[in-house]
Amino acid sequence: MKRLVPLFILAVASILFAQAPNQATLRSAAGDRAVSVTHVDGQTMFAADEVMAALGGSMAPEGNGFQVSLNNAVAVFGPDTRFAVIRDELIEMPIMPAVVDGRPYVPWQFFQGFLSKAVDLDVSWDPLARVLAVRPAQHVVLGVQLSVANVQGISKVVATLSAPADYAILKEARAYTIRFKSPIRAPFSEQTYDDPYVAKATFSGNDLRLDLKGPDIAADAYKLDNPFRVVVDLHKVAGGAPSLPAIAGTRPVEAPGIQTIVIDPGHGGKEVGAVGPAGLMEKDVTLALCRKLAESLESKLKARVILTRTDDSVVPLDQRTSIANQFKADLFLSVHMNAAVVKGAHGAETYFLSLDASDELARKAAEVENASAATNSTDSDLKLILWDLAQQEYLNESSRFAQAVQEEMNRITGVQSRGVKQAPFKVLIGATMPAALVEVGFITNPDEEAKLKSDDFEKQVVDALTTAIQRYKTDFETRIGVLRPAAPSVGPAAKKKNGT
Ligand SMILES: [Zn+2]
Repeated sequence: MKRLVPLFILAVASILFAQAPNQATLRSAAGDRAVSVTHVDGQTMFAADEVMAALGGSMAPEGNGFQVSLNNAVAVFGPDTRFAVIRDELIEMPIMPAVVDGRPYVPWQFFQGFLSKAVDLDVSWDPLARVLAVRPAQHVVLGVQLSVANVQGISKVVATLSAPADYAILKEARAYTIRFKSPIRAPFSEQTYDDPYVAKATFSGNDLRLDLKGPDIAADAYKLDNPFRVVVDLHKVAGGAPSLPAIAGTRPVEAPGIQTIVIDPGHGGKEVGAVGPAGLMEKDVTLALCRKLAESLESKLKARVILTRTDDSVVPLDQRTSIANQFKADLFLSVHMNAAVVKGAHGAETYFLSLDASDELARKAAEVENASAATNSTDSDLKLILWDLAQQEYLNESSRFAQAVQEEMNRITGVQSRGVKQAPFKVLIGATMPAALVEVGFITNPDEEAKLKSDDFEKQVVDALTTAIQRYKTDFETRIGVLRPAAPSVGPAAKKKNGT
């Protein structure tokens, strides 16, 4: 009986405070209580510390932002972004959190995102009664979170569901509709976006309709698990990479299998990359090697090959994957030379993308390669996470591809034990195809530097990489059941890469 007394008092208190403009009622299994609110742009914002404390969790400052935790689940958010992060997922809020007297206030959608992911609770806000209700999630009706973000020319629409559901995608001239086959609880009924492609998202019944800003916008849709997400990538149908007029055209043949391969010679221009003790520069070795590799792939695989640079020019890291995405490439290989962080290091290393490095040396390697002046310095962790979603769908394939590359490289360098590694290489982020990065040799090791200069070794590497790509291509096409006895002629298209 004792426990009921404070709950009773709280309930009475909340009724008394409910009408106050700076208070709302938090309704949970523990009963009703008043929480502080503020208003920004017509949105009701809730004091994050009070709501978390009332639910048995906590909030603390974290860097420039704040961290909330409940039952071992942690989310972080900051005052300058509409996105909060829980694990490697995003929680989208309609407006940014507001900090008043050092205390953060967040819209109710933050709690919906956090509590549904963290502890399987559902949150709803009744603006008339001013009640923020938190209750156990009911799985009959699926909760939906929607996020829309444009990065590098692709608008990524992610509908995150509280459980897997069947769906169909219906296409109209200027709209796509995702029709869920289970009842859903919409996060809103309609929202407009300041996005180059998405005008508006509307929930109605079990439909999520995306109205587009033009008729020349194409979509790639796919689903991801854990949590269940339906992702729609929207991009312009025509048009080349904006600052690379030499490259034009889109994929000539819409056929399954590995048809278009993008090879990325690391660094270029003032971005010289690693430099050997005798002055050999990574940017020069990678360009020479990749030109020969492109020729080899074109002649042996009859594949369409595109180089991200064909001369000694600076190409920003994010533009390299953009090129691959625009050409709808089926494979992306970035070629680099290692700078040794430990003495005597030799041999090749192959990586695929992960936000977490597989070991300390892998993390260092990524740090070295990411430290490029051509990198957009505003790249935040959040953007990395957002873009990691693009590559996530292909991680399994990327790992197989990296494996083939590493095995062939081990064969020529006589190193047996070295395996594939994972690290957050920025150049792989955002690639919507299997992607890997190979560090051919340690240019900073005098012996390896001498070897990298020799035509003999260059030919061995070109052959090894050609074999690796051929192996992966055969493996992939066998697995997806594509029989392609003769590859289509792609001569004219392949020549376009050297257009000027
Ligand atoms: Zn490099």
